[in-house]
Amino acid sequence: MTLALLALLALAPPGLRVLLQGGAAELVVHPPAQLADGPAITAAVTLEARDGLVSAVGLAPATELLVHGAAGQPVEVELRSRPRAAVSRRAWRGSLLLRASGSRLVVINQVDLESYLRGVVPLELDGSPTVRQVQAIAARSLALARRRPQQPYDFDLPGTQAYGGVAAEEPAADAAVAATAGQVLLRAGQPLNAVYGHSCGGVAADAAEAWGGRLAGLAVGFDEPGRVLGPADEAGVRQLLAGRRGLCAAESSHRWTVTWPWATARQLVQGRLAALQPRARVGPVTDLRVARRGPSGRVSELEVRGSSGLATVRGDSIRWLFGPFGEGLKSTLFVLDSSAETLVVRGGGWGHGVGLCQMGAVALAQQGRSAAEILHHYYPDATLGPAPAVTPAS
Ligand SMILES: [Zn+2]
Repeated sequence: MTLALLALLALAPPGLRVLLQGGAAELVVHPPAQLADGPAITAAVTLEARDGLVSAVGLAPATELLVHGAAGQPVEVELRSRPRAAVSRRAWRGSLLLRASGSRLVVINQVDLESYLRGVVPLELDGSPTVRQVQAIAARSLALARRRPQQPYDFDLPGTQAYGGVAAEEPAADAAVAATAGQVLLRAGQPLNAVYGHSCGGVAADAAEAWGGRLAGLAVGFDEPGRVLGPADEAGVRQLLAGRRGLCAAESSHRWTVTWPWATARQLVQGRLAALQPRARVGPVTDLRVARRGPSGRVSELEVRGSSGLATVRGDSIRWLFGPFGEGLKSTLFVLDSSAETLVVRGGGWGHGVGLCQMGAVALAQQGRSAAEILHHYYPDATLGPAPAVTPAS
């Protein structure tokens, strides 16, 4: 590689590689599109993986293929998890890198950071221009912090943040992305892993109680100006949940209650425990007990007691003990109240509760606070600045 090219790469806006699908059966590319170093695609072409090679009628099989739209336009594709399954067409900016993994296709969207954000911000937060700018800066920082230059891709979809490509884009979000172009939260000169969630229920979680590891630069404690530490014990959590507190207090998920007949709850937990901890052997589930709470009062260890054993579910995954991903409990900020017949779960907030509280950010914007002030409230140790230059992997 020449020095001039290296210098160009160092100045290039950061690109991301987002795994759209790790095991697709087929990918249909719609025209007009272009294969890098190959022919223009003028009719729909179905790509699949065979014997570790990406193949299609009329194309030489290859270990990987790069497809992009014609003349810098998005590339429009259908991704199918099963052969001939019906799916909708979606367009992606940048290009799609296709690799074969046995008989499955690995599909990676290579996209520049700002284009990626246009497909993220509208799906993550709706609101005033200030709120959208807050979201754009947090999402940009988080994406950069999670780049993994030495790995085949940076992160997967939807594990990191929602991303819908061109179909998700909206003019108001585009404006927020453009107004904050290149701006990130920095800590020690590096982009901050600026985690955020829907609503914290009045008290922000420590990353350790949600996921077990530490994350620097995020505010913890009550979601209000002049932070104080949250309730660490059962009595404190009951007192918190009995009223409303924090910037997100007006939000509809601020307080919630779920009631199950015990027979239903036991059956639900039994099935979900088998999915979360396939090796756990507890026998028929008899009871649930909060074994430990984290610094924000969230349940960090929940014991599932059975007739022949005991299993412990930890951190944010406790939510998925009550339903599959996306359908479990809204948060782990809860107390259990059970009688002989029913299990009642009373909780607060929606999401893991770590980092920025989106509904709290909306409230601060309504009070007239600027994007920088809102970001400072949630990421007190970070500064705002331009994204560091990306140096090519050596
Ligand atoms: Zn909040």
